[in-house]
Parts: sequence; structure tokens; C-alpha cells
Amino acid sequence: MARIVMKFGGTSMAGTERIRRVARIVQRQQAAGHEVAVVVSAMAGETDRLVNFCREADPLYDPAEYDVVVASGEQVTSGLLAMHLQALGCKARSWLGWQVPIKTDDAHAKARIEDIDAAALMASMASGEIAVIPGFQGISPAGRITTLGRGGSDTSAVAVAAAVKADRCDIYTDVDGVYTTDPRIVAKARKLKNVTYEEMLELASVGSKVLQTRSVSLAMKEGVRVQVLSSFIDDDAPAADTIPGTMIVSDDELARIQEGLDMERQLITGIAADKNEAKITLTRIADRPGAVAAIFGPLAAANINVDMIIQNIAKDRGETDVTFTVPISDLARTQSLLEERKDTIGYYRMLANSKVAKISVVGVGMRSHAGVAATMFRALADRGINIQAITTSEIKVSVLIDEDETELAVRVLHTAYEMDGE
Ligand code: ADP
Ligand code: ASP
Ligand code: MG
Repeated sequence: MARIVMKFGGTSMAGTERIRRVARIVQRQQAAGHEVAVVVSAMAGETDRLVNFCREADPLYDPAEYDVVVASGEQVTSGLLAMHLQALGCKARSWLGWQVPIKTDDAHAKARIEDIDAAALMASMASGEIAVIPGFQGISPAGRITTLGRGGSDTSAVAVAAAVKADRCDIYTDVDGVYTTDPRIVAKARKLKNVTYEEMLELASVGSKVLQTRSVSLAMKEGVRVQVLSSFIDDDAPAADTIPGTMIVSDDELARIQEGLDMERQLITGIAADKNEAKITLTRIADRPGAVAAIFGPLAAANINVDMIIQNIAKDRGETDVTFTVPISDLARTQSLLEERKDTIGYYRMLANSKVAKISVVGVGMRSHAGVAATMFRALADRGINIQAITTSEIKVSVLIDEDETELAVRVLHTAYEMDGE
């Protein structure tokens, strides 16, 4: 017998028939002798719909009230799944964030889980009851409802798995695993049997939304075994223990698996694209100490995350252009902050462009191989794709390009690194 947390995403929960199918998958897992808790997302499209209502009410809405509104989507699906399970003859009970409780900080709309008191939950699971928990939501120190940021149900699931000391956290979604790149963009993407926490973390953070970034860092920190697999399976599909999904594993574990299979480690594990960044350029800034601090200090104070930065000094004029990227959702605030400080910073013009995309290649194999970035630049150049900015880390290279060239760039790189499957 094992203790398993199962998470079902929005597409898997969209409508009566799909929830009924989810109920059957959960029932089978329990019938196999496991203790089961389920974490659910809102129906696909529902959170977007609710966010829109908030924007219509007030573009500068109160994040605490936003949380009250957007958390409701998961409340609906958790109650419905409990009903469907009961209809199948299972004992099932929903547990809202405040009932578990899932305690978070008070950063509304992007709260962090601080603690889960799982005693009552575990007692209920041990009695044979299936716990159904709405993802994405928690409760603040002041007792108000919070949400964990978009895609946050993955993090809820991993946090619950850590709290109940689950043997595994199965993330059921609308694809049957983690692929070398988004299979909806590249038909030749290959499913990965295993991917390391570190690589998954990097892939998620550069745009592979199959798992929320925070869920991966939490799983890594708490040592939760995470598997990504499809919820679109037939009633006679094999049990989750034998389904060929993608297992997130440690570096050592992967090395052992590959040694056993006599396999060489791939240089590149995955490619991701992110269209949610915008580029800003400030021209003709004085080349003196403190100039850059005057730009980024106020942005940091406003909690705006700057990602790529390039500064180019024109030696002859003693002036420099500074280019950087911020999330599109923070573009308007960034522009207004910099406009207010035009004289203090001392720039000539501010140029903004939200039609950009960041393309990243990720792989631990990069640590021991040179030439990964050069291959990327050559492959893009051969297709006439212009690179506007570059950043690298130990296991990642990212470039900023024109948004219209996103799909082409991902496909070209997938081929250039010899990742294409059948
Ligand atoms: P859920 O609603 O189940 O949380 P998401 O839409 O958040 O599902 O995540 C699943 C989607 O992630 C897939 O439909 C796929 O288009 C996208 N995706 C992006 N990159 C990858 C990748 N490398 N492997 C698999 N899916 C990916
Ligand atoms: N429903 C939330 C969202 O769409 C959380 C989730 O599905 O993970 O972002
Ligand atoms: Mg998701």
C-alpha cells in the first residue's frame, strides 16, 4: 500500500463527463489499495473568466478580493469531484484551503505556502476517505483566502504530498508527460522518461508551463517524487505505477538509470519558449557609477522582476543604451515608474516592445560540453532570425527574438540539437 496524491488540471476537470472519468481514475487507485488525496484545478478557462471580471470591476483591483473571486473555480470542481466519487460508492470529502488548513503568507495573488497542518487530513485518509482538495488556494495569517499564482495547483499538490508524506505525487494533465519541447508546437517532440529536478526547474522557469516553477523547487527541496502523466486514458489503462509518464528524478538517480541502460546523456534536455516578456530600452544614459542602480533600484522596490539585461557602452560618447526585459503584466507599471524618474536617471528616450519571445535551451549536459550556444546562434542565423538579447546560466542559454518567429525558432533548434523524434 502506498499513499498517493493525484492532481488533475483544468482540461481534465472541464465538464461532467471529464470529472466522471477523473473519479474513475481515482477510484481505481484506491481500489488498488492506496491511500489517496486528490488536488484539483478549476475547469479550463474558468480562472481566466474570473480574472476578467476582476479587471472589468477595477483595473487596479484589490488583490485580496481578487483572491476571493478567482479561488472559487477550484471550490466548484472539488465539490463536484467529491460528488462523483460518492456516486461511484467511494467515501469522499472536500477540504477547502482554510479547512485543511493550507497556511500561506499574505502576498495575495502570489502567496507562498508556509505550513500545512495535515493531521486531520491524514486521519481521514487512513479511514478510507478520499480527500479532495481545491488547488491554488490557501489561507493568510489574517484568515483571508489567498491564491498561489497562475498554475498554482501543481504547487498545492506537491505541498500536500510533502505534508502527508506521500510516496508519490502524480500530476495528471492533457499531455502524457514532459516532452523535449511543447508537443503542441513541435510535432516531432519526444517524451522524456525521466528529467532531473534541476532541469525541470529551469525548463519551467523559462516557459514550459507543464509544471508551475514553484512546484518543482518545492518537490526538489522536500524530496517529493513527482510523475507527470495523462488523464485522458481508458478505463482499462494500466495503473499509474506502470504508466509510462515522465518521472522527475535526482541527478544521481538519472545517472544510475542511464548507466543501467548504457545510455549517453543528452546534451540538451529541452527547449522552451516564453512570450510573456516585454523589452525596454533606455537610450543615451551617462556612463557613470550609479546610473544602472538608478534604473533597477526602483523596479526592485516595486517588486518587478527584471530578467535579461544588456548594456552597451559607446566608447566615444561616454553614453550607453540599457536594454532589459520585464513580465508583460508589469510593463505598464515599469514604464510609468521610469517616466517619473526620467530626469534622475537621465535617459534620452524609452522604447518598449512586447512583441518579443524568449527561447531557451536547457540541459545538464552543457556543463561538460562547449559549443551549445554557438550551435544555437548559427542555427538561428541560418534562418535569418535576429537575436536581440542573450543570457546564460550553467545549464541554460536563452535568447530574445521577434515574437512572430517563436515557433520557427523552436523547431529549428529542435532539429539543430538532433532532438527530433518520429
Ligand atoms: P493543466 O491544466 O493540467 O495544469 P497546463 O496547460 O498548465 O495543464 O500544462 C500542460 C500544457 O503544457 C500542455 O498542454 C503543453 O501544451 C504545455 N507544455 C509546454 N511545454 C511542455 C513540455 N516540454 N512538455 C509537455 N507539455 C508542455
Ligand atoms: N486554476 C488556476 C489557474 O488557471 C490554477 C491551476 O489551474 O493550476 O491558474
Ligand atoms: Mg497547469
